[in-house]
Amino acid sequence: MERTLCIIKPDAVKKNVQGNIIRMISENGFRIIGMRLIKLTSEQAGKFYAIHKERPFFKDLVEFMTSGACIPIALERENAVAEWRKLIGATDPAEAEEGTIRKLFANSKSENAVHGSDSVENGKIEVGFFFPESEII
Ligand code: ADP
Ligand code: MG
Repeated sequence: MERTLCIIKPDAVKKNVQGNIIRMISENGFRIIGMRLIKLTSEQAGKFYAIHKERPFFKDLVEFMTSGACIPIALERENAVAEWRKLIGATDPAEAEEGTIRKLFANSKSENAVHGSDSVENGKIEVGFFFPESEII
């Protein structure tokens, strides 16, 4: 069974739509195998998004991700990475398909409600970032 990482980002937690997102997770065949409520430090956010550290939006991204509580959720299902990316929609909500989580709940390309791993390999690594194997349900 494949794993992917969801993070309900601070904009979505502030809007109080985490319940809507968790319902969509369950209704779309994902199994929740780990879930936490956490306020990231700048060090944690910078490490998680290290791949983007040379990008012009990196500083804003770290500031945004540390601006409030996040809910990392480890997900499992067949084809989890691709299925989760499909359900969340494009990075920019203006380009996201109708009915996707970002179309429904994102504010903008930066404050875009949820994270999704971009490959099977990164799905494993990112789940491990928040959930040690001994805590996976
Ligand atoms: P995704 O989250 O869809 O995989 P990326 O990996 O490209 O997107 O970017 C990571 C996160 O950085 C995005 O979800 C978004 O919060 C932020 N981001 C990406 N591109 C931009 C941008 N051009 N301007 C501001 N923030 C951005
Ligand atoms: Mg990405």
